[in-house]
Amino acid sequence: MTSPLYEIEDARRYAGDVSVRVVRAGWFRPDAGGFFGVVPRPLWSRLVEADERGRLVCRLNLLLVEAGGKRILVETGTGSRMTAKDRDIKGVEGGEPAVALRAVDEDPASVDFVVVSHLHYDHAGGMLDAEGRPSFPNARYVVQRDEAEAAHGDELRVQGIMEVEQLDAVRASGQLAEVSGEVELVNGVRVLRTGGHTRGSQAVLIGSDRTGSRADDPTERAIFWGDLIPTRWQIPVRWTSAYDDYPIEAIEVRNELVARAASEGWWSYFTHDPGEMPVRIEATEKGGFRAI
Ligand SMILES: [Zn+2]
Repeated sequence: MTSPLYEIEDARRYAGDVSVRVVRAGWFRPDAGGFFGVVPRPLWSRLVEADERGRLVCRLNLLLVEAGGKRILVETGTGSRMTAKDRDIKGVEGGEPAVALRAVDEDPASVDFVVVSHLHYDHAGGMLDAEGRPSFPNARYVVQRDEAEAAHGDELRVQGIMEVEQLDAVRASGQLAEVSGEVELVNGVRVLRTGGHTRGSQAVLIGSDRTGSRADDPTERAIFWGDLIPTRWQIPVRWTSAYDDYPIEAIEVRNELVARAASEGWWSYFTHDPGEMPVRIEATEKGGFRAI
């Protein structure tokens, strides 16, 4: 077993008195070829090594955000409803978000909003608990309307891939908040539809434009990328993964947002990065971008 299974990191504060902690909710090992998609092995293998089954050791990262008296959980991990065979192939250990929160002394019932970046198994699988009930009984689950529609759509590629059952159960419980585009949840925390990876993928923008008045109030901002950029290894904007449903859109939106992150000094949180976070992105002399 890879350890530690569950961890919570120290809080960082952002503009508008937003606090962010990374919750490590388990491990998973995506297939390196799929994860890096169009990128040849000689290039990606300079950054990370695959295991003996050709997989990468990655983590299931959640964010626990506190702002305006509300608690926002970003992502739900895999949950516990995968088959044993699937867990083995994908190297999933842990992954159940309510278990992860309790392990670090946080109460799942205290969560007001759950932001689901998109409806793939490793992000939306933990919307429900093992009994099929919402894992976060008092939360509204924030999903882009485009994503919910894609999950119910007729595109063959997507069928069986999206967590439709979880989506529908949360909708039936009255806890689904479908949003469109860029929406502020509380002051200093906004979701932003990016598309690219899936039709309705969303990122989370952290830190208010309206900063506090005291000299020691934080002024920094951050972004949680979802699977638009799953780890720091995938910052080169043309490095589309095989799991990106709309690669041309993914490249365009990455290029625009990565440039903003670099020029405005946003901190980055990655959903599958096993390393220390957050990190900053800078422009290189060759016109690309890299983590610093
Ligand atoms: Zn993912």
